[in-house]
Amino acid sequence: MKKSQAHPFAETLISWYKDHARDLPWRRTQDPYLIWLSEIILQQTRVVQGLPYFYTLSEAFPTVFDLAAADETTLFRLWQGLGYYSRARNLHKTAKFLVETRAGKFPNTYVELLQLPGVGPYTAAAIASFAFGEASPVVDGNVFRVLARYFGVETDILHASARKEFTSLAQELIPRSDPARFNQAIMEFGALLCSPAPNCVECPLITTCYAYRNSRIQDLPVKTKAKAQRIRHFKYVVIEQSGRLLVHQRHAKDIWQGLWEFFCVESTDLSEAINLYPFLSLIMPFALPLESPGIHVLSHQKIVSEAWLVRLPTNYTFELPDNYQWILSSEFEQLGKPVLLLNLITDNIALKEILEG
Ligand code: SF4
Repeated sequence: MKKSQAHPFAETLISWYKDHARDLPWRRTQDPYLIWLSEIILQQTRVVQGLPYFYTLSEAFPTVFDLAAADETTLFRLWQGLGYYSRARNLHKTAKFLVETRAGKFPNTYVELLQLPGVGPYTAAAIASFAFGEASPVVDGNVFRVLARYFGVETDILHASARKEFTSLAQELIPRSDPARFNQAIMEFGALLCSPAPNCVECPLITTCYAYRNSRIQDLPVKTKAKAQRIRHFKYVVIEQSGRLLVHQRHAKDIWQGLWEFFCVESTDLSEAINLYPFLSLIMPFALPLESPGIHVLSHQKIVSEAWLVRLPTNYTFELPDNYQWILSSEFEQLGKPVLLLNLITDNIALKEILEG
């Protein structure tokens, strides 16, 4: 095969796509903003579910400037029902960033797109190829499945090195002449034909497919069972008095050993937390709810957090809970903290002001 020729696999996929592609609005545009919007909506969301949200959001905010200028309440109301609100928050943050620092222009390369908040390798490759024609292959669950089956790749797709290996295979296959079409084609093929229960009799690749020829369809892609994720609920109460904060250092054999954090109770509900620490019943009536980072994902745990701020009058006293101490907020600023708390501080101006004195 000459360098300029497309791989037969790519040619077959593209010609299948021409006849079978669904007509979706984000495929009719090269506007990076609309492509980005659609990709964020479609994360963890099926096309049928995401489609009405794409119409609503693109109508309400037709440009990145409209989205940047939107108030968060309106955006969240329109996002309602789609879940994973951090996506909406990141959309808003990124739109503002693009307007404030790049005059609303999207970066036009994969590498630069990756720097945007909430944009991972898949979304960056999608925007770079669909909007700017860069030959950057998209690799998601559909692509893992199609490549593993067709080429007989036995690598465990949950293994850390898998993405690199599959991306470099896709990089060899993607035609420089039409990368966007190849990316669309392989995703559509994985969604409609080479699905978890594939329709091999209709498949144009059947005669050369490794999995079909070797009866390995059910074995590929290889995916070891992920360890069950433990879900934990942290209730943070940021307690401030006269420029000091009530904090503790995490010692126990647990996550974030040695890092510092605000007063924290691990509990699914606040009343249980108050039962464990009765002094909370006296101070919580003065608490202001904070913007919480929501779900924070660690390798085998998900931390669901909620947070409040209580600013106590100077003369108010109570018995300090075990292992907690008062520390000047400017000193706390210097101590190592979990990313979850850094996000909490970034998202709440009141906290930033306290820490900056
Ligand atoms: S023959 Fe079946 S398993 Fe192989 S690529 Fe086609 S649909 Fe997928």
